Amino acid sequence: PVDRSAEVQEARLKLPVLAEEQVIMEAVRENPFVVICGETGSGKTTQVPQFLYEAGYATGSRIIGITEPRRVAAVSMSHRVAKEMNLPTQVVSYQIRYEGNVTGDTKIKFMTDGVLLKEIQKDFLLQRYSVIIIDEAHERSVYTDILIGLLSRIVPLRNKKGMPMKLLIMSATLRVEDFTENQKLFRTPPPVIKVDARQFPVTVHFNKRTPLEDYTGEAFHKTCKIHRMLPPGGILVFLTGQAEVHSLCRRLRKAFPFRKGSTAAAEEEEADTAEAMRKFKKAKQKKNVSLPRIDLDNYSALPVDEGDEDREAGIGDEEDGGSDLELGDNPADLEDKADPSIPLYVLPLYSLLAPEQQAKVFRPPPPGTRLCVIATNVAETSLTIPGIKYVVDCGRVKKRFYDRVTGVSSFKVTWTSQASANQRAGRAGRTEAGHCYRLYSSAVFGDFSQFSEAEITRRPVEDLVLQMKDLNIDKVVNFPFPTTPSTEALIAAEELLVSLGALEEPSRSGRMKDLQRAKLSCPISALGRAMASFPVAPRYAKMLALGKQQDCLPYIIAVVSAMTVREIFEDLDRPARSDDESSKLNQRRARLAQMRRLWAGQGASLLLGDLMVMLGAVGACEFAGCTPKFCEENGLRYKAVVEIRKLRGQLTNAVNAVCPDVGVFVDPKMTPPTEHQVVCLRQIVLAGLGDHLARRIQAEDMLDPKWKNAYKTPLMDDPVFIHPNSALFKTLPEFVVYQEIMETSKMYMRGVSAVQPE
Ligand code: ADP
Ligand code: MG
Repeated sequence: PVDRSAEVQEARLKLPVLAEEQVIMEAVRENPFVVICGETGSGKTTQVPQFLYEAGYATGSRIIGITEPRRVAAVSMSHRVAKEMNLPTQVVSYQIRYEGNVTGDTKIKFMTDGVLLKEIQKDFLLQRYSVIIIDEAHERSVYTDILIGLLSRIVPLRNKKGMPMKLLIMSATLRVEDFTENQKLFRTPPPVIKVDARQFPVTVHFNKRTPLEDYTGEAFHKTCKIHRMLPPGGILVFLTGQAEVHSLCRRLRKAFPFRKGSTAAAEEEEADTAEAMRKFKKAKQKKNVSLPRIDLDNYSALPVDEGDEDREAGIGDEEDGGSDLELGDNPADLEDKADPSIPLYVLPLYSLLAPEQQAKVFRPPPPGTRLCVIATNVAETSLTIPGIKYVVDCGRVKKRFYDRVTGVSSFKVTWTSQASANQRAGRAGRTEAGHCYRLYSSAVFGDFSQFSEAEITRRPVEDLVLQMKDLNIDKVVNFPFPTTPSTEALIAAEELLVSLGALEEPSRSGRMKDLQRAKLSCPISALGRAMASFPVAPRYAKMLALGKQQDCLPYIIAVVSAMTVREIFEDLDRPARSDDESSKLNQRRARLAQMRRLWAGQGASLLLGDLMVMLGAVGACEFAGCTPKFCEENGLRYKAVVEIRKLRGQLTNAVNAVCPDVGVFVDPKMTPPTEHQVVCLRQIVLAGLGDHLARRIQAEDMLDPKWKNAYKTPLMDDPVFIHPNSALFKTLPEFVVYQEIMETSKMYMRGVSAVQPE
């Protein structure tokens, strides 16, 4: 029996999924596979594990597992469910890549999908679990897809062995045919239970015109209008990235501060509630009376001379005629003046944000203020923010693009899909009827693709292929993927793995067709098995596997940790938003540049380039005790540094498990590598990145003066460059290897180190 507080009981009763408890539990009893679809916020993630718990799926030593594609969700949902069930976190726990609070008493375990995949490698039958819930399956993350494929085989195996097991797939959209109608996956289509969302109507307002560039500015104007004109209710703004989120937060905090001149301490402030509320109402009344009335949706955010006024007029623009939101408008210039009389409680939300900061969005805003969350698409389905009545949607999303031929990665902002835009709109109707303001026209919306593509079709798959081979799935092409990656992607992956020594060479006899087949079914090697046990991509796993020479392991572990964590250095090249900030940024930039030079070392170590800088940064930071202060002063991202630290510990354990004789440990006072070791480190790095070789453009190939100092790679026609921040920017060695090529303002190589021809 679960002992829930009265408050929790009441909140639960409002969730639509509760009405379906019996239907769901019956379907689970009768079927090995069940699909549950329900709008975000209908209670799937928080309630379904509780249903299963109460129905006895966690008795004895059996436990309930739930996977999430995002770490944020795994952590925050485990806390929420523990709280709802009045159970300690030893019982309702989480495990993510770097940490967790799972104990022997754990009954409900939230984890990232990658964590479960690793567990399958250790115990293919997942014997501890009585049921696995794959949550957020609509996101179609790579690991989710693979897990569904694997579990489609594991569950029947378990049932055949008399150890019953269930699989639940939960999705926020109704688009589940890839799972239900894929005969390779489930021969009998699993039942689909639709949870009727007690969703309130959301009126969608399209912009007449679509700002092509300054959508952040447009979001600012729209949010100001909503805040000034419309009745209470939280605002949720969707932008594409962290920088945009911060820039809009700043502008809004400046426009609607808690107290004149104070924005930083604003959140901590207990404003005089009654007074603030009175002013808020008064301000609104005043404005409604005295200002001319125009429609909130029909105004131009672009300066008149920018963009073509009539570009989209008349092509099916929807007028929300029945809208009750005809509003008085105020002159645009008024918006930029600070107005402390109507305080706005502005919070950022994105995945790299520190967890304490993220948790703030769930708490009620200070009395007398309106909540305004500026988010990336983490708020689209995985987290439900309470009290949102207005959604402002820029219609875009930042995605990583990967070019399979050239290997170039880039982050690009593109239009989102119709399905995502509708998810975003839905966030406005959780607690009462709401409004969604789309900063683009209905014609543009009509051109969006219907759904987002599965991630597995958009990225290299060598890591998955290696994991599968380690599970003895030799013919990866035949694996029951919900969406199968292209044959070229699979071949490229096998080729890379063969070159890394993780797979055996395909036999070269026979005809072309046989060769292609052979290329797609290379068996795993002993080295490949060792590599698969390291929780990093195959290239980096290879480096770890070679690290034993010359006592290089501690260095390789540190370098690999730094290379596989996102952005160890702070982005100080961003434009400043004020003069004050500009001088501060300049100072910090200078300091970081100085530190980079120091970390790069001298003589031989210089040739290790950016990797030496990372190694130096990790060493220095650890030496200083990994404090936020040290990071702040030296331009390191604290969150990244903490992750690197955890990963170092984890990789050290993994290496010791594979070769117990090396006895490597994390030394907080690691001395810099010797000259000999640097040579060895460079060889190891080359072994992992050997196919990422670039050569400085020779005089005879210099077709364009802009190509001075540029490099050529075998696969690309266009040249690539060493970034000015790189340790090798001045040296420009003839041959280099790089971690990846990122296209930003130019094609830049990241993580560059020098190679000397033998
Ligand atoms: P779904 O998985 O269907 O999207 P959830 O189970 O995540 O729905 O959410 C159900 C409800 O629980 C939502 O109304 C949400 O606001 C609330 N909720 C979730 N997490 C928290 C939290 N940490 N604090 C307060 N409320 C929360
Ligand atoms: Mg959910």
